[in-house]
Amino acid sequence: MPEAAPTPITGSCHCGAVTLTVPHAPEWVNSCNCSLCRRTGALMAYYPDGAVKVTGETRAYVWGDRTIGIHHCPVCGCLTHWRTLGEDFGKMGMNARLLDGFDPDAVEVRKVDGASW
Ligand SMILES: [Zn+2]
Repeated sequence: MPEAAPTPITGSCHCGAVTLTVPHAPEWVNSCNCSLCRRTGALMAYYPDGAVKVTGETRAYVWGDRTIGIHHCPVCGCLTHWRTLGEDFGKMGMNARLLDGFDPDAVEVRKVDGASW
């Protein structure tokens, strides 16, 4: 039997102004303790840049070494995703907490010590 094609998962920020579509549900997410992530509580899932769809207007927050923009909904403030500002990482991060039906207890949560970087 061929493996079933992965089902795209959608999600949105709290107010619905920003919608997200990813090619499949995350198998694992990153939980990072850096100065930003520990405040937002985002759990990041990674996908190839271009495999995801983000609709609606987001605002990017740029800090530190200025390699990525951390996007949020300007209406409700939810952190939606991050994207590179230039350097090609081959991936981008989506806040898995915004995906429909996401259960942090059902996926592997990898602790990242971003605070020490
Ligand atoms: Zn919103």
